[in-house]
Amino acid sequence: MSLGIAILNSGSSHGGGMYTASGTGLNTLSGIVCISGDTLDCPIHGINPVETGCSTILVVNGKPAVIQGSVANCGAVINSGFANGILTAS
Ligand SMILES: [Zn+2]
Repeated sequence: MSLGIAILNSGSSHGGGMYTASGTGLNTLSGIVCISGDTLDCPIHGINPVETGCSTILVVNGKPAVIQGSVANCGAVINSGFANGILTAS
């Protein structure tokens, strides 16, 4: 299953990876899901938030999940490393 939902360490078009993942309460096989407001560790621009997300795909803790194609404030596009096998949401 490949839903294109970002997780901790998901990569971006600027390199680096997701630095925080606040989608706790959701069990996946690959890592904690990133939601709107979580930060990207961009090697060019430093740590900055991803404020876009997709509420039609997944909402965790009241915030939309960061997905493939979501854009960080610095312009980096989240493009690799996604959740597999989402098991349960609470
Ligand atoms: Zn950047």
